[in-house]
Amino acid sequence: MLSVEEALEQVLSRVSRLGAEQVDLLACLGRVLAESIAAPCDIPPWSNSSMDGYALLCRDTAAATPESPADLAVVGTIPAGSVAPGPIRGGEAFRIFTGAPLPEGADAVIPQEEVEVRGAGIRLRRPVHPGEFVRPVGEDIRAGETALEAGQVIGPAEIGLLATLGRSRVLVFRRPRVAILSTGDEVVDLGGDIAPGKIPNSNTYALMAQVLEAGGEPMNIGVASDNRDAIEEHLQRGLSADVLISSAGVSVGEYDLVREALNRLGAELHLWQVAMRPGKPITFGSMRGRPVFGLPGNPVSAMVTFELFVRPALRKMAGHPALHRPLITARALSPIPNPGHRRGYLRVTVTADGGEYRVRLTGNQGSAILRSMVAADGLAVVSPDTTIPEGGEVPVLLLKPLREGKGRA
Ligand code: AMP
Ligand code: MG
Repeated sequence: MLSVEEALEQVLSRVSRLGAEQVDLLACLGRVLAESIAAPCDIPPWSNSSMDGYALLCRDTAAATPESPADLAVVGTIPAGSVAPGPIRGGEAFRIFTGAPLPEGADAVIPQEEVEVRGAGIRLRRPVHPGEFVRPVGEDIRAGETALEAGQVIGPAEIGLLATLGRSRVLVFRRPRVAILSTGDEVVDLGGDIAPGKIPNSNTYALMAQVLEAGGEPMNIGVASDNRDAIEEHLQRGLSADVLISSAGVSVGEYDLVREALNRLGAELHLWQVAMRPGKPITFGSMRGRPVFGLPGNPVSAMVTFELFVRPALRKMAGHPALHRPLITARALSPIPNPGHRRGYLRVTVTADGGEYRVRLTGNQGSAILRSMVAADGLAVVSPDTTIPEGGEVPVLLLKPLREGKGRA
């Protein structure tokens, strides 16, 4: 039996990053930059005022005190979006607004609340120092400087910076297209009739959502009944995808025909017994150059094996620097038993309380109990035949953003 680490290593060693494509700015959110981006100009492009006030020459104010103020003539106004008609001269000030460029020669701004307006002039009672309330040219980024590196994940701040740099299209790594097949005579798709003995197809939708969340593009290739031809026919629809995932029908039961159908389509497959619970049997291989995963049918097993093996592979293909979920150390609020001989990935709620993470089992850990995944914030990783006692520490893979305070835990 393979360890989770060995199986993951085999998966990751067989997938590689996809090519790049030009994408509209906003569509880059969450994707990975495939080019390094140098600033075409200084940002900001000119020194500008950080306050509403008066631009001036500091030397005119050097001797100003409360008793002996300096008077300056206001010779013009510079609203944001305009420029001064000419340079500033000795004894002059310009009315200036936040974001407006300093007039040529001016070296500081005094905020409006610090001056007395006297007719067509202003009176100051302190010296102003060079650079006061000025945002210097290039203080954010210098022309030619690398503003964003290839391999960076694009979030809202990166989008803002790209817009500042004038980029409406950006080169990012391609998102893997992932075809998803469900199999089983008992499985009925959404909208179908759930006759006695049948069950609704949940795996396709949970897996498509996981693909989206991992940064891939899901493609539903339907539900195939348990016969070779149907499965093969459905799989054909997935040949335009970068990755193929099927769920169910991969153990050694009588109706487990997915492997045979994949083999007939030219796949080279390995059935692995992975030392984990839930989700012991998984199939992995390649078919005409694309990775293929056969996940277990039980809804929780399918989702957990996706988390552990498929998600890191998709992230690698999309160029993400971080392949794995955060692994935190948490304290058990009640005992967490793992009686089996395989490593347990147990569904837990996670709360952050006073700088400490606390976890509690979500309840029934059966691999068909989808509500335990709904309740779970993370997966506690517990060695075989081990019980984490109340108050004991346990590593936890975080699946969802943390809730502060007591929460549900
Ligand atoms: P199998 O791996 O085919 O033996 O399936 C294991 C369990 O998962 C069975 O109880 C199936 O009914 C269930 N199952 C298989 N496919 C799906 C699906 N698409 N949605 C929900 N449950 C499924
Ligand atoms: Mg089945």
